[in-house]
Amino acid sequence: MVRKLADSGFKVSISPRGASRLKDGHVWVYRSDIVAADEVPPGSVISVVDHRGQPLGCALYSSSSQIAIRLISHEPVVDFPALLRQRIADAIAYRERTVRDTNAYRVVFSEADFLPGLIVDRYNDVLSMQILTQAMDAEIVRQTLTSDLTDRLHPVSIVERVDPRVRQLEDLPPRESGLVQGEKASTIFTMNGVQLHFDALEGQKTGAFLDQRENYAATAEYAHGEALDVFCYQGGFALHLAARCSHVAGVDSSRPALEVADQNAALNRRDNQPEIEWIEANAFDLLKDYASSGQRYDTIVLDPPAFAKSKRDLDAALRGYKELNLRALKMLQPGGVLVTCSCSYHVSQADFLGMLADAARDAHRILRLAEIRGQAKDHPILLNIPETAYLKCVIAIVS
Ligand code: SAH
Repeated sequence: MVRKLADSGFKVSISPRGASRLKDGHVWVYRSDIVAADEVPPGSVISVVDHRGQPLGCALYSSSSQIAIRLISHEPVVDFPALLRQRIADAIAYRERTVRDTNAYRVVFSEADFLPGLIVDRYNDVLSMQILTQAMDAEIVRQTLTSDLTDRLHPVSIVERVDPRVRQLEDLPPRESGLVQGEKASTIFTMNGVQLHFDALEGQKTGAFLDQRENYAATAEYAHGEALDVFCYQGGFALHLAARCSHVAGVDSSRPALEVADQNAALNRRDNQPEIEWIEANAFDLLKDYASSGQRYDTIVLDPPAFAKSKRDLDAALRGYKELNLRALKMLQPGGVLVTCSCSYHVSQADFLGMLADAARDAHRILRLAEIRGQAKDHPILLNIPETAYLKCVIAIVS
């Protein structure tokens, strides 16, 4: 299929509800708000008009996703690759202003950088790219992205991380994860002075949760004594805790994640720091056992996977969060530090704080919220696109 470089000439008209969403600053239009989109090829750059034919901007069209339209510009687009290059330049300039103490960060965060369907992460000298929409999957777009990212960031290689489920939803042909440029698929990167392994081909998922980078540093400011990092994955929090605590244990149910965690610990081993203990276990079971056997901690981190994948899961998710937080609160010494996170978009900050208040009440503990935090600044939040804000991280002192 030939995809055009500029606005394809196709017009899609949308309902007043869709139009008001765009006017409110959002960039998505759902399929149910499309009035007419005759014969628009998948992945086209289209003009969006309201039901009276008034122009609303240019967008990327998906023929299969429920999010049929993703706005890319309020102006006509005459040269899409040029617009991509400009957006990438803007995204990099924003990171230059906001990212410190690391050579690993999110360079492009999809809608939050007005590049819907594109995620680019930098891990030192390796770039990892994810393509999530039909329009971004076009060959001409791929070529523009790789050449422009290479010119600006000079990576040794670029790897593509494929999410097969998203490709299916977008009706795109299957594709393997792997190198798209260069030979190097693994590297070592640094954040807050801590070194970590990245391996695009071996590692689970992204290789690291870059969105927690600033929360790792903030946690280290309060952490002390006996520390437990629950849902530790490859050790992000635990490695930062080791610089401040007398003993650190990390818990995860994934053995491959713990193996990388142990390699990360070896990279950062210092004589004056405790050796981190890695425990392969179901976190719910372990917290239950430890709480009932009278185990006590000075610092506990809870960073579970997203419990609410959709709005429907909200109540069950809140029950899961509450169980974890309740058990952790019971195990914290007076003056202890609870660092508790949720990466579920469907659990709002208010829901999360409400759950924590319930857990504190049931545990008969008083929580002072030292910090209410979110995702690192390289994962920008756009106020008018609520879906760009997903991570909650509360640091509380427990008495
Ligand atoms: N704190 C980590 C990220 C955690 S991601 C960091 O900063 O890098 C969530 C982790 O929870 C994954 O590593 C996954 O293996 C683990 N996990 C999921 N369910 C679990 C369970 N029931 N018990 C223990 N670990 C679990």
